Order: sequence, then C-alpha cells, then structure tokens
Amino acid sequence: MITIPEELLPADGRFGSGPAKVRPEALDYLAMRGDVMGTSHRQAPVRDLVAAVQTGLAELYSIPDGYEVVLGNGGSTLFWDLAVSSLIENRSAHGVFGEFSRKFAKASAAAPFLDDPAVFEAQPGSAAVPEATDADVHAWAQNETSTGAVAPVTRIGDGLVLIDATSAAGGMEADVSQTDAYYFAPQKNFSSDGGLWFAFASPAAIEQAERINASGRWIPASLDFLTAVKNSRLHQTLNTPAVATLLLMEDQINWMLAQGGIGAVAERCRTSSGILYDWALASEFATPFVTEPEHRSPVVATIDFDESVDAKEVSRVLRSHGVVDVDPYRALNRNQLRIACYASVDPDDVRALTGCIDFVVGELGK
Ligand SMILES: *Cc1c(COP(=O)(O)O)cnc(C)c1O
Repeated sequence: MITIPEELLPADGRFGSGPAKVRPEALDYLAMRGDVMGTSHRQAPVRDLVAAVQTGLAELYSIPDGYEVVLGNGGSTLFWDLAVSSLIENRSAHGVFGEFSRKFAKASAAAPFLDDPAVFEAQPGSAAVPEATDADVHAWAQNETSTGAVAPVTRIGDGLVLIDATSAAGGMEADVSQTDAYYFAPQKNFSSDGGLWFAFASPAAIEQAERINASGRWIPASLDFLTAVKNSRLHQTLNTPAVATLLLMEDQINWMLAQGGIGAVAERCRTSSGILYDWALASEFATPFVTEPEHRSPVVATIDFDESVDAKEVSRVLRSHGVVDVDPYRALNRNQLRIACYASVDPDDVRALTGCIDFVVGELGK
C-alpha cells in the first residue's frame, strides 16, 4: 500500500468535475441562514433569496438590457427537454464533441414534432460548433465537461443560439449578447448542489417560446420555458426549489464578485489548469488529452497517461488519501485523469496534486 506523505497532500482533495468542491465558507453561510430553510418559497425570505441570486448572476455576466435570468427545477438535463418542448420551433442544429453536447442533440432527434436536427460532430478532445443552417436553434457547449474541450461563443445562423454553459459559467468569460440562452446548473463553478437550471434569456428566446405556445403544441408545464419566465419574474419557481442550493449559490456569487468578478475568477481557473497543462507537457508519462491549445479547457483539465502508468491505480491511491473524483468521464474510457479547476479550487491545491501524482507514479514504478 502506497502512503503519500502528509506534506504533499492538498489542503482540500475535491477535484470532481460535477458535483464539485463546495467552499467551506459557503457551508458556514448555509448554517448561518438556517432560519430560511423550511419556509415557504412563496414568501419574501425565499423570494428575496431568488432575487439576490438573479441579480448577482446578471451582474457577474453584465447581461445585456432586456435579457432575463430565468430558473427552474431539474438541472441542465431538464433544460434540454424544456428546450425541445418549448424553444425549438421546427429544427435545431448542434455542435457535438462529447457526451453532454450529444445528449441535447439526441433529445431533439427523439422529438416526434421536430424535423431531424443537423449534427456537426468533432472527435472527443476537439471542438465543434454547428455551421449556419436554416435551423431555428443552434446549440453547443462552451465547455464539454466529458472531454475538457472548449468552443467559442459567437452567434451562428439567424435563429436562437443556445449555449450549454453548465461547467463554463462562473469559470469562463462569455459575451452573453452572442447567445439567446446561456444556461447552466449550480453544481460546478457555482460550488452548490445540483437540481436547478439557470438561463440568461434574450427577448428573442422569450418571443420564440411565446410563438410556440400560441401554435397549440402540447407542452407539459414543467417543460414550458414561458411558465419558467413568468415564475422567474416573480422570483419563484413553478414548484418547490432546493433552498439550500440557492443559499450556497448566493454565497458563491458574492464571493466571485468580491474576487473582482468573472474576469478575476476566470484568471484563477486559468492559473489552476495552466499548472496542470504545464506539468503534463513537462512530464515523462503525461500529456494533455486536448492537443490544440486553444481548445484546452481552463476549467476541466484532461490528462492522458502513457501505458507505463495505470491512471485507475493512481486514482485509487489518491482516493485512499481523500483526493477524490479525478477519474475520466465513464464513456470516454481512456487512461486519463480529469481534474476540475473550477473557481473554488485553490491553485495551490492543484500544484500539490501534481506532486502527489508524481509521487504515486514513482512508487508504482518501483
Ligand atoms: C454537468 C453537465 C450537464 C448536466 O447537468 P445536470 O444538472 O446534471 O443535468 C450538462 N452539460 C454539461 C456541459 C455539464 O457539464
């Protein structure tokens, strides 16, 4: 059994790509605000909390005039189904370069009332944005969490642009005016728990949802974007939200703003992932999985190992020391570690992690 010396270990060993590290200070804040837990989400204390999260997010991303911060229950996966039900009018186009971007394309392809989507696919480890088509929605992910590859956020086509920012928001900058729904969930950079979705929605997105509603399409209430918009304007959700999730998120947003906003937080993420990429490039046994530097994610670093090192074994030893969740995305099935460099992760801990990996690999080779 390998023992990593105490002094090499990171202070906090949570490097998971989702759910991800929750800052201990956010948990203290949650305990302090315990009075709001178990109270009605139709009353002022919870509605004020929702409003504070909406305002904080709008400030963090300087969202353009007329855009609204919409939220609902069910996470980003539900948002795909909601988009299929009430945001795609006839046909969508997708950039697919990993498992998350593929799931949205699949959800659209399965809808009997939509035309088959146009799919523009790139190999895992690269990135794909859709070409401009006559589709009324163009969709891709800013950060493909399953592979650690990023794609640019710029307007494509005449329809709506829907950006999956689940693991990018709160850790990468974006010009929200280039999008019609920049959507995400709180369990990644926002250092909270899962279960909610948020979207920065443009007036055009809301208009398209209104048109689809008026067309007579059957839309389940929980999958109706317009219902979510109406509730969000009242700082509510259609059904009961997880109040603890909102409290953790409120604390994280305030912490990000105190750091200097999204630019400062994005720089911290770039520092963390840069430590990993530089270490891998200098290493005898490790290389960044994403070969094109401009596609390398600043928030999720994927590091391939050569056949001399068993990444699973390295991960097992790390886990037994409380350094957890560095495994690659299941379906990718590579000899790899995947390390989240989200906003809450301390760059010093990332540096310590590289030292731990070097130590474990050295011991395994003996
Ligand atoms: C984590 C993740 C999702 C899924 O989020 P859920 O809230 O669990 O549905 C979707 N897209 C991306 C890019 C992700 O990283």
